[in-house]
Amino acid sequence: MRISMTMKKIIAPLFLFTMLAGCNMLHSQNVNFSMYFSDSTLRLDYHRVGNRQADTVQVLNCEKIPLWAGSLTQLLDPFDNGDYRVVVLDPASGRQLYSRGYNSLFREYRDTPQGKDSIASFEEVVRLPWPKRTVDICFQRRGSDQKMHTQCTYRFDPDSAMTQLRRRSVVRAYPDPIELQNNGNSHKKIDVVIVPEGYGPADSLKMIRDMHTFCDYLLGQEPFRSRRSDFNVWGVPLMGKASGITDPGKGIQVNSLVGSSYNTFGADRYLMTMRLFQLHDVINWTPCDHIIIMANSTTYGGGAIYNFYAMSSLNEMAYVVLPHELGHSIGGLADEYVDENLSYGDMHTLEQEPVEPNITTLVNFASKWQSMLPKGTPVPSPLDHSVRRNENGPLGVYEGAGYHAKGIYRPAMHCMMRDYAPFCPVCSRRLNEVFDLYVK
Ligand SMILES: [Zn+2]
Repeated sequence: MRISMTMKKIIAPLFLFTMLAGCNMLHSQNVNFSMYFSDSTLRLDYHRVGNRQADTVQVLNCEKIPLWAGSLTQLLDPFDNGDYRVVVLDPASGRQLYSRGYNSLFREYRDTPQGKDSIASFEEVVRLPWPKRTVDICFQRRGSDQKMHTQCTYRFDPDSAMTQLRRRSVVRAYPDPIELQNNGNSHKKIDVVIVPEGYGPADSLKMIRDMHTFCDYLLGQEPFRSRRSDFNVWGVPLMGKASGITDPGKGIQVNSLVGSSYNTFGADRYLMTMRLFQLHDVINWTPCDHIIIMANSTTYGGGAIYNFYAMSSLNEMAYVVLPHELGHSIGGLADEYVDENLSYGDMHTLEQEPVEPNITTLVNFASKWQSMLPKGTPVPSPLDHSVRRNENGPLGVYEGAGYHAKGIYRPAMHCMMRDYAPFCPVCSRRLNEVFDLYVK
């Protein structure tokens, strides 16, 4: 049986109504930030080109941004999550200086029927601390053996003629961000930037009001609420030429700021943008660990990809849609719901343990939440439909998750990643672990 865990779509509204009836830690090492990096950002723009058989990375531009929002001490990614990883190596010693796992829209494209054979190019951006000396930047991809393999290496010398050639002329074309919540030193905070999308010249007051609303939604659910003081939240007060969001299903076409659209890969509620370079241009001058695109539409929709971005519309469900999407984009969590229509693709099989922390095929359950289970918990656990919709119910191992009704298991009857209940203990644990990565 073939499964894919990467189509991070938002929950089908229909599903909301029919519903009534340990983590893999990699070895860490201490890297002295100031020895290798300056307190600035290296933004690398590249194209990822390919299809399901193979893909490659083509570096286009590099840019030096005179601020670094990430941690100065947590430089190596402790989570073996995401299907891609960028690794900065010291060429002399081979030592890892920085690493981050992530996913991308291309990763989803390659699992679509078209992505099987047809080649396509997608914009991607990585933000790294600015190296003081020559480094190797390795783009890695998870192979069929579930391990990361280096696809290609970009040698980066901050002083070379090639770097100067590829440097973009940095124009400060966008307004300064407004503070929605400022708790201080970005090196020790999770800096989230809200990018308004689909706001026209007449929408300026609404835009500011909506930004504050989104800030409240971002911090409204546990464990975000308890960690409120660990977040800085910024908004870029930028308006486009017209109101609304492109929705091909309704024949609506809007030339919006970052080109967001419903109906991504043919799923009407899947709201995403392909214009990563433009998105990062907008946030260039803002301390940024994570991006939220706030779409000015009342049509239900959203989407998110791990360490890429999250998006939600301003539908009446946005107060839970946004936390759900942040579960993907910040926590690297999988969907815990069942939707067999989304389960195409061939990258994962039920014979492998998925990388996401909140679902298991029981191939290597010890690497997941086995240690959190109360003694005597049956594995798998019988489904208990008496658990109320807004409660997790007892921690267990319940069949039906990652879009599949059979063979994939989740930790709770209900969870934010399944049906907008509170985050279950397994998802909460991972979110807290990820938050810790930014505050040390
Ligand atoms: Zn969960």
